[in-house]
Amino acid sequence: MHRAPPGDNRGVTLPTALAARLPSPLTECADERFTRRGLRLLLKRDDLIHPALPGNKWRKLVPNLVAALEAGYPTLLTFGGAYSNHLRATAAAGRLLGLATVGVVRGDELADRPLNASLARCRADGMRLHFVSRAAYRRRAEPEYVAALRARFGPCAVLPEGGSNDHAVRGCAALGRELAGRADVAAVAVGTGGTLAGLAASGPPALGFPVLRGGWLGAEVARLQRSAFGGPRGSWRLDEGFHCGGYARTTAELERFADDFEQRHGLALDRVYVAKLLLGLTTRATEGAFPPGTRVAAVITG
Ligand SMILES: *Cc1c(COP(=O)(O)O)cnc(C)c1O
Repeated sequence: MHRAPPGDNRGVTLPTALAARLPSPLTECADERFTRRGLRLLLKRDDLIHPALPGNKWRKLVPNLVAALEAGYPTLLTFGGAYSNHLRATAAAGRLLGLATVGVVRGDELADRPLNASLARCRADGMRLHFVSRAAYRRRAEPEYVAALRARFGPCAVLPEGGSNDHAVRGCAALGRELAGRADVAAVAVGTGGTLAGLAASGPPALGFPVLRGGWLGAEVARLQRSAFGGPRGSWRLDEGFHCGGYARTTAELERFADDFEQRHGLALDRVYVAKLLLGLTTRATEGAFPPGTRVAAVITG
C-alpha cells in the first residue's frame, strides 16, 4: 500500500496494484501540418498511466474507488454500452481491489448472444453483467430506478454512465495541473464531458471534440463543473465538427487520417475517441485556427 490519489481523499493509501505513472509523459510530436504553421503539437500520454485503467479512466475512477472503500461498500455498480471502456476499467479496478462489480448494460437483446470481447473481458474480471432494455437504461439516473438496483444487488457505490461524477471531475483537474504552463491549448475528446470539465478547471484553455452527435454536451460540461466546483471554472469550448456521424461511427476520412497518423508517428489511435480528436485538431491547425507559437497539447486518453 502506498501512493496517495490526486484530488479527493488525499492521504488515503491505494493498493500497489493501482499505482500509476503520474504525471503522465508529455512528448513532442513533430508533425509538419503543425510545424509548418509555427505550432508545436504535444502528446499528453495519459494512455500510459496504468495498464488496466488507461487514460482518463484511472483519473476518474480512483477517487471513486477510494470513496467506496472509505464508505465500506462491498460492490461498485455502474452503467455502460456493450463497448464501454468505462465498464472494462471498472471491472478491472474491482478485480485489483477485491470489490465486487455490477455492470448495467444497455440492450436486453445482448443477454442471449455471445459476449463481445469487451464484455467478455468484464466478465473475466468478475463483473456481474445485468442487461436491461433501452427504456430501462434511460432511467439510469432516476432515484427510484437506482433504489431498485440497490435492492437487487445489495449495498453498492453507484457510479453514473462513463463514471462522470464530482469525484471524477475533480480527479481530472490533476490533468489540468500537469499541463498548466506547459501548453497554451489543451485538447481532448469528449464522451460524457467529465474529463473536459476537470481539465478546463485547472489547465490551459481547453478545447473539447465531442465524439457523439446531439449538441447537449456543452450544457453537460457546465453542469458537471457547477456540481464539482460550485460554478464555472477555467476557459473551454467545444468544436462539434468531428463526431464523424456519431458515437463509434466512422468515415473514410477518419480511417485515412488515423492510418496515416499511425504511419507517421508509430502511435496506434483509438478510433472512438482519440482519432476524432486528432483529426479535428489537425484540421483546425491546417486552417490557421491557432496563432504561430501556440503549444497545442492533445490528451491521448486511451
Ligand atoms: C471514456 C473515454 C473518453 C471520454 O471521457 P469523458 O470524460 O466521458 O468525456 C475519452 N477517451 C477515451 C479513450 C475514453 O475511454
